[in-house]
Amino acid sequence: MPDNEQLENWLNKRRERRKHLTANELFPKIQAGSREALSAAITLLESNRKEDAQEAQQLIRQSLPFQNRSWRIGITGVPGVGKSTFIEAFGKEIIQRGLKLAVLAIDPSSNVTGGSILGDKTRMNWLSTQENAFIRPSAAGNSLGGVNRTTRETIALCEAAGFDVIFIETVGVGQSETLVHSMVDFFLLLMLSGAGDELQGIKRGIMEMADAIVITKADGTNIEKSKLARAQYANALHLFPPKQSQWIPSAKICSSIDNTGLGEVWQLIEAFFNHIHSNGWYEENRKKQAINVLHSHLKSLMLQQFLETDKAKSLIQTKEQAVLKGEISAYQASEDIFKALFLSV
Ligand code: GDP
Repeated sequence: MPDNEQLENWLNKRRERRKHLTANELFPKIQAGSREALSAAITLLESNRKEDAQEAQQLIRQSLPFQNRSWRIGITGVPGVGKSTFIEAFGKEIIQRGLKLAVLAIDPSSNVTGGSILGDKTRMNWLSTQENAFIRPSAAGNSLGGVNRTTRETIALCEAAGFDVIFIETVGVGQSETLVHSMVDFFLLLMLSGAGDELQGIKRGIMEMADAIVITKADGTNIEKSKLARAQYANALHLFPPKQSQWIPSAKICSSIDNTGLGEVWQLIEAFFNHIHSNGWYEENRKKQAINVLHSHLKSLMLQQFLETDKAKSLIQTKEQAVLKGEISAYQASEDIFKALFLSV
């Protein structure tokens, strides 16, 4: 039987979850470290209701001053590479250093199939019970654009909540890696060692974005193979052009089950942040990322606005028919539409 105090605590938390708190009520609670308030705020961000969007935007405004101290780390790798096991073990390393860790996920598969590659199964059992950890699965049923915004804004809220390290996890199968790369400071690619061509399975472009490659499951009979893979990836990384951050990526091995190599990965990440703090890239990159968001969001708003007018809709339909009948080329049709809509005014 729980005692009265426990029961009262539990009821309070439940009430908090159910009550519709305003931004002004939620924000101090988020800052005080309430994970319930943080979850409620993220739910507001994900909501499609207009009133919720207003409250959410107020929360984001309040969060902005807190954004320049966290470490944002992207983690990617094919399904089965060991992402959740790694995050659980590596997360423990981080928590034990007295830091607060948030784990967010972007899962493109959940939008397409309604299922999820990252898994609805209970992942990261130990981490999920820790006071200093916050785990939020990806927002399902949203477009990648929607998930993009929600994730960026969730990062801002986590920063206001005082999380020192924020993991953004994604599956190495689609465009979501580029998206994650565009919102983090450090990009970690997890790879399996294996026979044959070591560079199979992950696109070159993803390797090129990596600040480090970590070979997972370097344990038991796999250790030698992992060391070989480490050497091969280290060579492959040298072939890419230098990074704007001036950081030289490297390859490591680890075992999340034997708990080996994880401390080294952390040291590497610390070295990276020392490097980008001292050469100014931390701030410069974040500014660039913010300006890119401004441009891409503006473009999508303009496009949406433009495509929704009746004039545009009917003109596009007419030109589509002309293209289908082979009367004009697709290029010509687009230019005609553009001229009719923009150059006639
Ligand atoms: P994810 O799909 O990338 O999240 O991968 P999971 O973390 O679910 O791991 C996939 C499988 O690999 C599971 O059966 C894990 O137990 C196993 N695995 C993960 N990390 C290690 C490791 O360090 N060593 C070994 N031997 N197996 C591991």
